[in-house]
Amino acid sequence: MIATLEANIAHALISVEEKVWEPNREVTLERLRIVEMMHEGWPQCRLCGQTVNRLDSAGLCSKTSPAHQERRGIPVPKKKAGSRS
Ligand SMILES: [Zn+2]
Repeated sequence: MIATLEANIAHALISVEEKVWEPNREVTLERLRIVEMMHEGWPQCRLCGQTVNRLDSAGLCSKTSPAHQERRGIPVPKKKAGSRS
């Protein structure tokens, strides 16, 4: 399971940070490389370029900013229902 793997790696990264820093750079770089490898095959949001493990039906990440909502075809309510036309 990718999610499980990701959790394991996240945990591994955290435990590295919790330790007193030792000059064990290779181990850290190796872990970072694993994270990069995992992200490599992941799709990116068409709008903001965010790398996510899953895009929604509009090809976007899970953000709900007005720009993302507009791209999904969801009408975004204006902040003020002003008279600006
Ligand atoms: Zn996005």
